[in-house]
Amino acid sequence: MLGLMQEQPLLISDLIEHAARHHGEVEIVSRRVEGDIHRSSYAVAAQRSRQLAQAIDALGLEQGERVASLAWNGYRHFELYFGVSGSGRVLHTINPRLLPQQIAWIVNHAQDQVLCFDLTFWPIVQAIAAQCPSVRLWVALCDPAALASLPGVEQVPALTSYESWIEGHSGSYNWPRFDERSASSLCYTSGTTGNPKGVLYSHQSTILHAYASALPDVMCLSARDSVLPVVPMFHVNAWGIPYSACAVGCKLVLPGPALDGKSVYELLASEGVSFAAGVPTVWQMLLTHMGQHDLKLPQLQRTVIGGSACPPAMIRAFRERYGIEVLHAWGMTELSPLGTLCTLKNQHLSLPEDEQMQIRLKQGRAIFGIDMKVVDAHGHELPWDGRSAGELLVKGPWVVRDYFRGEGPPPLLDGWFPTGDVATIDADGFMQITDRSKDVIKSGGEWIGSIDVENIAMAHPAVLMAACVGVPHPKWDERPVVVVVKKPGQELTREQLLDFYAGKIAKWQVPDDVIFLESIPLGATGKMQKMKLREQLRDYRLP
Ligand code: ADP
Repeated sequence: MLGLMQEQPLLISDLIEHAARHHGEVEIVSRRVEGDIHRSSYAVAAQRSRQLAQAIDALGLEQGERVASLAWNGYRHFELYFGVSGSGRVLHTINPRLLPQQIAWIVNHAQDQVLCFDLTFWPIVQAIAAQCPSVRLWVALCDPAALASLPGVEQVPALTSYESWIEGHSGSYNWPRFDERSASSLCYTSGTTGNPKGVLYSHQSTILHAYASALPDVMCLSARDSVLPVVPMFHVNAWGIPYSACAVGCKLVLPGPALDGKSVYELLASEGVSFAAGVPTVWQMLLTHMGQHDLKLPQLQRTVIGGSACPPAMIRAFRERYGIEVLHAWGMTELSPLGTLCTLKNQHLSLPEDEQMQIRLKQGRAIFGIDMKVVDAHGHELPWDGRSAGELLVKGPWVVRDYFRGEGPPPLLDGWFPTGDVATIDADGFMQITDRSKDVIKSGGEWIGSIDVENIAMAHPAVLMAACVGVPHPKWDERPVVVVVKKPGQELTREQLLDFYAGKIAKWQVPDDVIFLESIPLGATGKMQKMKLREQLRDYRLP
């Protein structure tokens, strides 16, 4: 017997209409590429998203065809999220930090029909336009005057400004209703192993993820929050924040291209931001800036940190110096992206601070909707004892089933998605990543997790960044070395750092050497690129 409740597909257009109807006056504040601060609202964004949908219809795009974006976090990008997906097309967010030839490859693979770009990325458009025959229209996210001031506009045919594209449309539009399993957006993995692979999200997966991510033990979002996603809207939909923000009606603050400590601090302070989300490298810049200028952020209550392991020193600095709670999260492009988030359970609240810290360091508990397990090399599930490490497998309604256009072999094993991460799960269900499987250091038949080694170095007051990589060893196969960037003006010797490891991990896990560098290569999403680092160290020999 079927239930007798209304049937209504879960569609992204309902998010923006809900926000406009119930929270219409709530602000969307953006720092623009031009440098100024722009103020919009959910009501205005809904109106302009509808105008955009009409403009796309007028161009004759079929349902499911792709509209690409090369853009920072800003109000026009926000409108693309709803106008494109809401009208039944697929928003393909492209990471502008990739090389132009990689971007051209992705545009061709996705067969993008329209490509919308921030002015910053005009040189990329100039470089790739001739190689991307599927693109019928190039749209600069600006007004006609700003477009006219670009050098070499005559080189790219079929070029318009966003404002003139949507201007002639009324915004009086009925969003189409369709199957909630229809594709809504597309994001490619960064392709650290082979060609990038497209993850094609659906309306259903996006809305379920939006509900789940707003839960109290996840991001705990509410209408009373002012939310700043530092995580880019070009990578995994800014962790879904534009969608969950519409669901709860919080104020949204979009930082544009300025992600340095000073600019992020200014926005956090001036817009009363209570919740922010980003990768550790961004927070490191903020902490350095606040430390140097003796600043505080009394309104900021929580930050979600994920994308790579959050060093304990960072959690401590936020908590102890500024009273800001750090929530450690784990996710992937293939998961929309949230999988786990670390909030303590009741029984942990009475534990001493040090023991609580050991839990906060973990990547956290599965969010309802996601199930997870760790398996050994033969695929057998390992016990939840907090010690047995194996590959992490996940499943759920916002986990990838197949890659776009069948790129690569089918990813699932018995319905579970193998993440390529090595992890443990403890008796309370807290998962901890020990490494990416390709970064684990295999020393004499034992595994050394690089994250542990890095976290200890990061706790040293003179260390700004640390990366641990394995280097070949004639007897042990591989041995760990730690690559360190010192904080400006700080002194630190190899011996001092190696002494710092004493008593913190087993002797055989202590790195064999310390290499000081000016910088560590970062990838397109601000993560340390260990593959590049290993290449850089190709001629290095252990002492
Ligand atoms: P890519 O795989 O393209 O680097 P993703 O952004 O999808 O891009 O990265 C997902 C990976 O990032 C995870 O598989 C994991 O290795 C790493 N990661 C994400 N969050 C964390 C975290 N909190 N701690 C450690 N690693 C993390």
